[in-house]
Amino acid sequence: MLDTFPTLAAIATTPAALRQLQQLNQDNLTIWISPKLSALAETAPNLHSYGDSLKDKIAELWPSTSGFIFALASGATIRLVAPLLQDKATDPAIAVLDEGGEFVISLCGGHQGGADRLAQVIATQLGAQAILTGAASAQQRTGIDILGRPFGWRKGSGDWLGVSATLARQDSVQVLQDAGSDLWQQHLPARHSFQFGFGDEAVTPSDEAASTAQARVWVSATQRSFSDEGIPKVQWHPRVLWIGVGCERGSSRELIETAVTQTLAKGHWAEGAIAGIATLDLKSDEVGLLELCQDKGWPLRCFTADELKDIEVPTPSKIVTKEVGTPSVAEAAAIAAASDPTNGSLVTSKQIIRLEGQPGAVTVAIAQADQEYTDRPGHLSLIGTGPGALDQITPAAKTALIEADAIIGYGLYIDLIRPILRPGQIVEPMPITKERARAERAIVLANWGLNVAVISSGDSGIYGMAGLVMESLSQAGWNGKTPSVQVFPGITALQAAAARVGTPLMHDFCAISLSDLLTPWEVIEKRLKAAAAADFVVALYNPKSKTRLTQLGSARKFLLEHRKGETPVALVRSVYREDEQIKLTTLGELNPDDVDMLTVVLIGNASTLRHGNWLITPRGYLGFGNEQV
Ligand code: SAH
Repeated sequence: MLDTFPTLAAIATTPAALRQLQQLNQDNLTIWISPKLSALAETAPNLHSYGDSLKDKIAELWPSTSGFIFALASGATIRLVAPLLQDKATDPAIAVLDEGGEFVISLCGGHQGGADRLAQVIATQLGAQAILTGAASAQQRTGIDILGRPFGWRKGSGDWLGVSATLARQDSVQVLQDAGSDLWQQHLPARHSFQFGFGDEAVTPSDEAASTAQARVWVSATQRSFSDEGIPKVQWHPRVLWIGVGCERGSSRELIETAVTQTLAKGHWAEGAIAGIATLDLKSDEVGLLELCQDKGWPLRCFTADELKDIEVPTPSKIVTKEVGTPSVAEAAAIAAASDPTNGSLVTSKQIIRLEGQPGAVTVAIAQADQEYTDRPGHLSLIGTGPGALDQITPAAKTALIEADAIIGYGLYIDLIRPILRPGQIVEPMPITKERARAERAIVLANWGLNVAVISSGDSGIYGMAGLVMESLSQAGWNGKTPSVQVFPGITALQAAAARVGTPLMHDFCAISLSDLLTPWEVIEKRLKAAAAADFVVALYNPKSKTRLTQLGSARKFLLEHRKGETPVALVRSVYREDEQIKLTTLGELNPDDVDMLTVVLIGNASTLRHGNWLITPRGYLGFGNEQV
């Protein structure tokens, strides 16, 4: 959890503060305590005394810590961190927690340091209130300085403070995007001050002049140099450029780097927009190439001559065909890499670069992909959000929801959890009938590198989305690791409904869905008869839909063959939601008109009793002695 903070340090000087911190459930958290509390330091492996000087300890931890949680007064915290703060692009996240565990303040490093997110996660786990004072969170939007993070964009040059300030004033900011995903544009709050310009068309200087915007954001693979004059401007670079490289054996790292830099400069491409290097598999051990990729954090994609030889290129070469079996390396490899998994095309054809006094020669070509490379492995959180009320969701599931870049689910369930979502998240509600499409969409986004939460009501593994997602992954030849998958349990309808009417489940019980959409009715009938005969308490899911009207009547008939008409039954509709309705009846009097698709039907066993408005299934069968409880 909280992968964005590889190292978290928390500080407590009192036992009460320590108790709060110990409720946080983070593997990567170390808690530093006052030597006065050092007797406690032995009680847990992640507890340590900070020694004589907290100030020195903070200074020591500062460079290697991605987030600090101070369970101290905010004044004391400010004095401790002030001398260490440098730049909001590099400072760690600083959150302050009050001793009573009521409030968590995102004090410093709100956007780029991730303190807003840290404060939200802590607040969720402790049931506290997160206090975020940045303008972006007040306006329900993402800060411009972290906008491209989910998509792996690289921050380019510009006046980031100036553009952020313009947005904070809600003055209009022009966005000119000609590369990378525009998903973020589709998920802005209803009131925002961006003006989107020009779509795919080229921007001319007169277009720029015509705009009334007070600031400008470029999202582009092109390198722009901004003058200090005029409105503030910044540039984000989606990683869309695949650099095809061919080289003579033994070409130095310096030569290859120079060749890449010169080719970029010629086309005014930004280095930040480089996705990676593409080449022939024969070059997979080319030392200079490997060194360059390693230093720059660029992946090296290698293709076989067979994969490259039929790709159409502007500059094929017979000599190259003779040497390596494909008429093009640089151009063909660039195109091949940029075309996987979507489309791409060559934007700079082959350049041959030599350096005076250096052996070797390098060819470079550039192709641009439609979809940016995110450099992230992708993650799927399959989350059960419980029956409805926000306090019935597990803290772990809430944390996963806050962490997600994108949330996919049925619209009604997304509406129920909307209050805990974070500004800037990609939220894709989809119709109830489109379960498979929802699963496929989640997998596409995760394969692309996003952290995707797929939500189901109740438990996601009980007639929920988790099964569909795992099925699709398995059919698509998933390796079990990438994207990574985590399943978060939720309170399922039968538990929630049971809790509202007493203890009807108590003994052996089963769940049967009456939906014959994905299961043949004969199978359902067989299970109903078996459950009836075996005297299971039965929970009926999907008892009815607009077009499925008769199944509940049939289920009642099968159960009556083994159970008395007086057997208690609870019809529980929209449990833990605002429009919750509960009706207690009996199997004999069960009226299918009282039931709809938002109802779960609980049917007692032979010993279930009704006591006032409560249903009680005894822990053991009456007369069979006392079982251990
Ligand atoms: N994954 C869900 C079940 C989805 S199937 C879970 O674990 O609860 C949909 C069926 O679940 C509905 O037809 C209804 O029978 C039941 N259901 C889901 N949420 C419910 C709620 N809040 N109240 C009553 N029944 C509910």
